[in-house]
Amino acid sequence: MFNKILIANRGEIACRIMKTAKRMGVLTVAVYSDADKDALHVHMADEAIYIGPSPSRESYLLGDKVIAAAIKTGAQAIHPGYGFLSENADFCRACAANNITFIGPPVAAIEAMGSKSAAKNIMEKANVPLVPGYHGDDQSSTIIKKAADDMGYPVLLKATAGGGGKGMRQVWSEQEFEEGLAAAKREAMSSFGDDTMLVEKYLTQPRHVEIQVFCDNHDNAVYLFERDCSVQRRHQKVIEEAPAFGMSEELRAQMGESAIKSAQAIGYQGAGTVEFLLDFDGSFYFMEMNTRLQVEHPVTELISGQDLVEWQLRVAAGEKLPKTQQQLVLNGHAFEARIYAEDANNDFLPATGKLTLLQTPIESEHVRIDTGVRQGDEVSVYYDPMIAKLIVWDESREKALKRLTKALTEYRINGVTTNIDFLYNLATSKPFIEEDIDTGFIEKNHEVIFHDTQQVLKNELPIAALFLVLSNKKKAQQNALQSTDPYSPWHNADAWRLNEAHTHTLVLAHNETHYTVEVEQKRHASDTYYLININGEQFDCQGTMTNDIIVVNINGHRSQATISCNENHISIYRENGVFNFSHILPDCGQHESDDGHGGLTAPMNGTMVSVLVSRGENVSKDQPLVIMEAMKMEHTIKAPSDGIVNEIFFQAGEMVDGGAELLAFSQQLNADDAS
Ligand code: ADP
Repeated sequence: MFNKILIANRGEIACRIMKTAKRMGVLTVAVYSDADKDALHVHMADEAIYIGPSPSRESYLLGDKVIAAAIKTGAQAIHPGYGFLSENADFCRACAANNITFIGPPVAAIEAMGSKSAAKNIMEKANVPLVPGYHGDDQSSTIIKKAADDMGYPVLLKATAGGGGKGMRQVWSEQEFEEGLAAAKREAMSSFGDDTMLVEKYLTQPRHVEIQVFCDNHDNAVYLFERDCSVQRRHQKVIEEAPAFGMSEELRAQMGESAIKSAQAIGYQGAGTVEFLLDFDGSFYFMEMNTRLQVEHPVTELISGQDLVEWQLRVAAGEKLPKTQQQLVLNGHAFEARIYAEDANNDFLPATGKLTLLQTPIESEHVRIDTGVRQGDEVSVYYDPMIAKLIVWDESREKALKRLTKALTEYRINGVTTNIDFLYNLATSKPFIEEDIDTGFIEKNHEVIFHDTQQVLKNELPIAALFLVLSNKKKAQQNALQSTDPYSPWHNADAWRLNEAHTHTLVLAHNETHYTVEVEQKRHASDTYYLININGEQFDCQGTMTNDIIVVNINGHRSQATISCNENHISIYRENGVFNFSHILPDCGQHESDDGHGGLTAPMNGTMVSVLVSRGENVSKDQPLVIMEAMKMEHTIKAPSDGIVNEIFFQAGEMVDGGAELLAFSQQLNADDAS
């Protein structure tokens, strides 16, 4: 086994790899950029080497610097994690040239999977099922169209050099074909400098099911079951689970064996993932092979009881695989939810800022948290804004899903917008519970996941009001207890009077709608209850609170909710999703602190895709201004208020550093503000 390894990565994956290395007695070396000088991965490592400025192309992506760091510290091997240099054949070669072991597959395997059509050719020869289609060298439009006509529409055109969902286009009929092909070629040429296309049958309701494989250099190969990663937003995975629901033992074995055939066809070694599309009739088709450890590997670890990073180190050190196929046992069910700093309601725009509060669920045999940040850390513009991976395990899917939703309600994060509400709504939605899932899940269930205001008035609004009243009361009681005369009525600081009916008016906002709520406290014998009036409708309510659980009885219906409250923002976690309210305080209007002038900055490193406004243009609040692309996704930057675009600093096609000012914008002052 190695004595010392360098981890050419950052964040949660660097920390994850170090945990295993430490347990195995292997020393670790971290590398870091300016933005990461105090990062968790740097503190966890035995040694750390500075490799350059914050943008990854000036630090983490520079293979030479990483190799120099390994030589300097005497690291015998480099673990690339995922992303960055993990699938870079040149880096892999450079490691070999410097006598450093690359903890990953051979160069040839990385290269073989680099082109979609070359990969399909290899898999076809190895008898791995492919989506019906054409991936030949003859690129004449007549040949490609004939292939499409023969298999029938819809079809999917894909750039062979493509990745990240780019250069892909669905064609629904023969009439649309020519135009679709021309558009896909244009996009492929501008994105990859290569417009070679392949055409496939477009499956309308597939699932994304991938198989974890492992091979050593003693001719052993196993599969560690499958993961279902169908829940995606624009081809980015959101929640993953293992095993895939509804899999028969027979199908699992067929897919597993196909995955092993795929790996063996390219002389694979180490950890790899073979991605398949699984159709509703049980047919499955090879999509691609990822020649590295995947973000979602923990779900496989929890159902197999194996440590995949340990396996990687052992295989790279020349050992045999720790288990045979027969010794591997699938146990229970696991989910992983990716907790991101992002605004799900604004096209998943990445968010940045300081994590002023980061309180996590407690880790146990059921709950695992892989993270690279601590409270007080900054989610910067430079890297993937993932805060953590929350992974849960239990005996069955149903039980594991309950663990997931409960753990999501236990997160408390301040300082940055997160996707926790979105994940909670998704995980509690009926189709997700009922396994009605394919790759179009989020689009199909948009209304359920981003639920609207319909039910709020009758169900959650009285709970929010009751919560405010009860917590005010509790505060007042605590204040009274701390005073010299705990029974003094003057210490009743919440404006409720003893033994007397009294009405209190609250204003609560939900999705920008303000509701005036009148709460009247009543007593009946020794019982306290509240009459809550919203828009003339009356609710007879009682409630008790223990920690963050509120038990309510509203018009004779008893139920409970988990509540998290952050300053004036209240989140109510219910069986059917999370509901957010703001308590609007009478003398605490939303004052703008700046003078209305300023810029709009890039949320992260990326490329400007298009500029939708021109200099001097008057724009209204939420009007799209520019589109940026980062992390494989397009992000629309919208006007924060009505105003004027004074200057535009980037043009379409230009690279933009995270934090760079995109436009100069002045807010339009309304009459009240101006006076
Ligand atoms: P990329 O390399 O650009 O990510 P992939 O070939 O891996 O492209 O496909 C990405 C996603 O596109 C898949 O997870 C699946 O959701 C969808 N997809 C790919 N091929 C097909 C197909 N033939 N039919 C339907 N959906 C497909």
